[in-house]
Amino acid sequence: MKICLMCQMPRPEPEAVCSLCFETGFEAAPWELPEDFALRLIGENRLDVAYAYLEEEVARGRESAAGALRLAWLAFAFNDFRAVETWCHEAARLEEASPEPHILLGFVLQRAGRWEEAVAEYEIAGRRSCLSNERKHLVSDLIFECKTHISEF
Ligand SMILES: [Zn+2]
Repeated sequence: MKICLMCQMPRPEPEAVCSLCFETGFEAAPWELPEDFALRLIGENRLDVAYAYLEEEVARGRESAAGALRLAWLAFAFNDFRAVETWCHEAARLEEASPEPHILLGFVLQRAGRWEEAVAEYEIAGRRSCLSNERKHLVSDLIFECKTHISEF
């Protein structure tokens, strides 16, 4: 098992391009399969099942910021950007301090060529104190990528 550097989801070892975020950076994971059931499904690439399971958790009143964020990344994999936005806002509501929903929203906006809005989301994420150094570097790289496009206009 390995972890995708962008979406931070567990990925099967042979995968070259992440099925969730379509990026190619990975790091080794310390486990064969994660213990968390939703993460295990995601790591086995059973993305539809993982989505249904996580939605069921929400329906049962067991929603969490982590669950909402996983739903958001799965929705991204399914190209359902309205659902990405909904789940990101839900994740941000449940855990206001989390930078992750803003990173994902920025990522969606960046892919849509909406550079200024993407930078705004990344900057919100960049100001969150719980952001790890690794994540901080990723966010500043993404902001830099967006700004190269802005300066062309
Ligand atoms: Zn990924």
